[in-house]
Amino acid sequence: MRETVQAFIGGAFVDAASGETFDTIDPATGEVLATVPACAAADVGAAVAAARVAFDSDRWSGAVAERERATVLHRIADGIRAAAEELAELEVRDCGKPIADARADIDEAAFMFEYYAGWATKAAGDIPPVGPDALNLVVKEPVGVCGLIVPWNYPLLMAVQKVAPALAAGCTTVLKPAEQTPLTALRLATIAAAAGLPDGALNVVTGFGPAAGGPLLTDPRVDKVSFTGSRDVGIHIMRECAAQLKRVTLELGGKSPNIVFADADMAGAIPGTCDGVFGNQGQVCSAGSRVFVDRAVYDDVLSAMATHASAIRLGSGLDPETTMGPVVSAAQYDRVRSYVDVGRAEGASVAFTGTTPDDPALAGGYFVAPTIFEATSNDLRIAREEIFGPVMTVIPFGDVDEVVRLANDTEYGLAAAIWTSDITKALRTAKAVRAGVVWINDSQPAPTEGLWGGFKHSGIGRELGPYALDAYQERKQIYIKLS
Ligand code: NAP
Ligand code: MG
Repeated sequence: MRETVQAFIGGAFVDAASGETFDTIDPATGEVLATVPACAAADVGAAVAAARVAFDSDRWSGAVAERERATVLHRIADGIRAAAEELAELEVRDCGKPIADARADIDEAAFMFEYYAGWATKAAGDIPPVGPDALNLVVKEPVGVCGLIVPWNYPLLMAVQKVAPALAAGCTTVLKPAEQTPLTALRLATIAAAAGLPDGALNVVTGFGPAAGGPLLTDPRVDKVSFTGSRDVGIHIMRECAAQLKRVTLELGGKSPNIVFADADMAGAIPGTCDGVFGNQGQVCSAGSRVFVDRAVYDDVLSAMATHASAIRLGSGLDPETTMGPVVSAAQYDRVRSYVDVGRAEGASVAFTGTTPDDPALAGGYFVAPTIFEATSNDLRIAREEIFGPVMTVIPFGDVDEVVRLANDTEYGLAAAIWTSDITKALRTAKAVRAGVVWINDSQPAPTEGLWGGFKHSGIGRELGPYALDAYQERKQIYIKLS
């Protein structure tokens, strides 16, 4: 069933001014799912103008009491929960992930609105002491109009991770979803409008990066850009935003280490390591895709992981038995498969490869078999470059010092997982690894109440928790002379 959807600008659903459209695909079948407006400068300009009016007229920001903003955010959360199953199915059809995973994403997206609704009334300032003759107030104010550019791997969740704290802070927003997965962001716009969010506070411009995202970087009416996506686009965004000194938050890629010590509880370490690479079809910025295994247990761990991976069932995300869906697009399919060729050409040996579905209905789908490579060196391309697919690279190590050196021998620094029953070793390793997020005896949890973001080339700034709110606020000092 092919649907036609529209962008959301200034509180109304509209076509692109040019009338141009593009198709979004169901990656399980390769069939067209919906026809979507290809927004460009004129549409983004209209969206920014609407966001600017909403901000400057105090329709949402300064003149609206924080508790009113909180009430609207709670209502958006309620709207997401009421539409949860519909949203989950839409997400599966647009990006391919298994339905259970999509349900978890939608649930967390609803919670994010609840969580930031709470913060809206609690973001207090400070009163630094300045002696008896003055009072010095440091207050927090919304940064302004925010351009929010997001990827396709967790379409609604990545969008809400920015929209909810931005709105809670009193900012207004223009959201640019990924071209592959625009549908749940548009559904969010409907839900937000029904919840009473004023026109212009959330706009959704669909389309391609340079045309629909690019104008957000150069429009002087945009105060801040928050971007989640690849390192290279992140560099471009920072460079473009520098011309107007826009505030920038970047959540970029990774090649995160997953370290299995010999004394780990393997009942947790084996499935945790596999899920940390193969979950979401491997399309996770924090995937623990470089797996370092203590030489003392290397052979046993490798064969246990192959056994675990052999239980992965590829299929349509709508089938409840499916544990791995298709990757998001034909381009991603080609990219991931080319890395499997790279690994072979570099001399890595394939320790495991899974099977793709034989259902003829899925013959046009973008299914990539999960693959485990054994590598002798951290210098191989499959150990250095972000593959963003279900490909694990396993490398042996000797001791803590060696594995810390290997773990840190990367341009990235998003996350790391450490598996051991020795708490001292765990904490010593956790402190030594240069990454923004470290898990001990787990992999991948990203609680909304926590922190997210990377060191080095994995980004600038932090999301989730109070840190995200902070990213959408300016601080102002008001100094009052008392004598
Ligand atoms: P991407 O190619 O960088 O695209 C991300 C977003 O930026 C998309 O909406 C894209 O539009 C847009 N874009 C591309 N070029 C642009 C330009 N010149 N100006 C403005 N916007 C532009 O990344 P992706 O392939 O969608 O996502 C995968 C990457 O995201 C991986 O590197 C992954 O690690 C990273 N990621 C990071 C996190 C994190 O929290 N650190 C989370 C998830 C994903 P199009 O849709 O047209 O390309
Ligand atoms: Mg799609």
